[in-house]
Amino acid sequence: MEFYKMREENGPIPSTSSAPSLQIPMSYIHRHGLTFLLDNVPEMVFIKDCEGRYEYMNAAALASLGHERDYLDGRTLTIFDLAPKQVADCIDRLDRRILSNNTNVYDAEEPIAADDGTTRWYSGTRIILRDDDGTPVGLAGVSREITLTKRQETMRKSHAALLEMIVKGKPLKDILAAVVREVESLLDHVCGSVLLLDEKTALLRNGAAPSLPKEYVSKVDGVPVGPTNGSCGTAAFRREPVYVSDTLENPLWTNYVEAVKPHGLRSCWSTPVIGNNNVLLGTFALYSKAVRMPTETEKEIIDMATNIAGIAIDRRRAEERVHYMAHHDPLTGLSNRNLFWGQFRRALHEAKREGRLVATTYLDVDKFKQINDLHGHAAGDDVLRAIAERITKNVRASDIAVRLGGDEFAIIFSNPKRDEAGVMTRLEAIRQAVQEPIAISTGAITVTCSMGTAFYPTDGTTPENLLARADTAMYEAKRVGRDAAKAGPEVGSAA
Ligand code: GH3
Ligand code: MG
Repeated sequence: MEFYKMREENGPIPSTSSAPSLQIPMSYIHRHGLTFLLDNVPEMVFIKDCEGRYEYMNAAALASLGHERDYLDGRTLTIFDLAPKQVADCIDRLDRRILSNNTNVYDAEEPIAADDGTTRWYSGTRIILRDDDGTPVGLAGVSREITLTKRQETMRKSHAALLEMIVKGKPLKDILAAVVREVESLLDHVCGSVLLLDEKTALLRNGAAPSLPKEYVSKVDGVPVGPTNGSCGTAAFRREPVYVSDTLENPLWTNYVEAVKPHGLRSCWSTPVIGNNNVLLGTFALYSKAVRMPTETEKEIIDMATNIAGIAIDRRRAEERVHYMAHHDPLTGLSNRNLFWGQFRRALHEAKREGRLVATTYLDVDKFKQINDLHGHAAGDDVLRAIAERITKNVRASDIAVRLGGDEFAIIFSNPKRDEAGVMTRLEAIRQAVQEPIAISTGAITVTCSMGTAFYPTDGTTPENLLARADTAMYEAKRVGRDAAKAGPEVGSAA
């Protein structure tokens, strides 16, 4: 009986003859019950000669190539007889490299790309078989597929990298695009997309879709949440995953067939992104050009992506809320002092550049203490809210209305026409609007306000001195009897 002699580091293998041979010592294996063992392990085991002719392949090795366990019996075959060309090329290249390097490899991870473009990962050990002189005569190998483990490991790394982006406060668009890209790199032949729910309009807006055709992305940007609105609109509506295997046939896609058709996007699997407090944030979808349902692996990866997208969106919303709270008055929703000075400075900067007029008005409610005293603090709050609303209604979107605190408000008018009289007319409209009855829980009350206005550049050039001048003018209005709008000294009174 002949057998290969391995290098000493590989452990002793019985050798009964001095002549090297590639005859598989099946009798040896049989005698030791090894065939049974080898055919029942999940690892792929083989022995081949230096020309790539297989002397032995166990059941797992043959099965991995789609063959029965006795396929090799009595035949001299190479990988090219056993596997599709692309796979065979890849395996042949790997094994030849090991022989030409003349070095064993242990637990080497190798990707093998199949003809359909999918990639499988293997961990393999290859031992060079040698004759008594140490001349290589073949290769013995043990391999196992690690595609799943590899994917899970990559998934864990992706997960960590994406969480790090979130922690570092990267822009939401970048994080979502990275989520989609990670998923696309983990899977074969799919394109991802994140849609974000616009709370005001209940429309789903594009969040990230780096690999989908731009034309398609813009067509579905703004898809409404609804019971028959493609995979995403419906998933958002049902708040559960919607897996559509054929977009051209499924009734949910009837209104969107023309959008997908030109791009051959045949299946679309969408999952709602649900955030804290069960709030709908958007959807995460995968598209494939094949007519099919997602695999379990794809579902698992979709879950990971949906989860990360949810964390990123939730965090961004929380930041926006904190930012809003830091810059707005909770009672009236107007900007507060924190936002005011920056906005004021910007308005003056633009006015300087473009030669505009800026009017700064200080508004204080007349005898507001009495309202609190007579009708209670809650009624006072109702009055402050009503006044804020009336101010907002009477200024342009480009103007700035602020609650400075208590019953004091400020308004910054940007006036490209340098029309001081126009500003005073607007103030008169505010004065009258404030006078309209205000509903409180016990009926309605009427209040008045006093306003003082200062103009840039005539009354001052900095936010601080303009506001101070406006404050002085407001006190002048109070002094002469309240319910009035006073302008800075150069302009004169409008009431
Ligand atoms: P004047 O015409 O001189 O302005 O008289 P006034 O009574 O309005 O006096 P002042 O402007 O100094 O009074 C502001 C009052 O606003 C004092 C305070 O009790 C009340 N106030 C401040 N913040 C709030 C609030 O958030 N809600 C309510 N209801 N009252 C507030
Ligand atoms: Mg007051």
